[in-house]
Amino acid sequence: MRIEVDLDRCVGAGMCALTAPAVFTQDDDGFSVVLAGQDTAADVPPMAREAARACPVSAVSLLHED
Ligand code: SF4
Repeated sequence: MRIEVDLDRCVGAGMCALTAPAVFTQDDDGFSVVLAGQDTAADVPPMAREAARACPVSAVSLLHED
């Protein structure tokens, strides 16, 4: 599983970092950053799924790597 943020969509709303602070943070401009080691975690934390749902512009993707 891979977590990606589409920065062309991200509007810096911060919902991802608020919802799953162990997975996401925000850069100086407010845009989402996946924390090191979380982007390719074998088990995506449940809160990361919630963050993907919470993003108002659907910028967070949880991708299966098969
Ligand atoms: S919730 Fe969506 S729009 Fe807001 S910072 Fe996270 S990825 Fe960007």
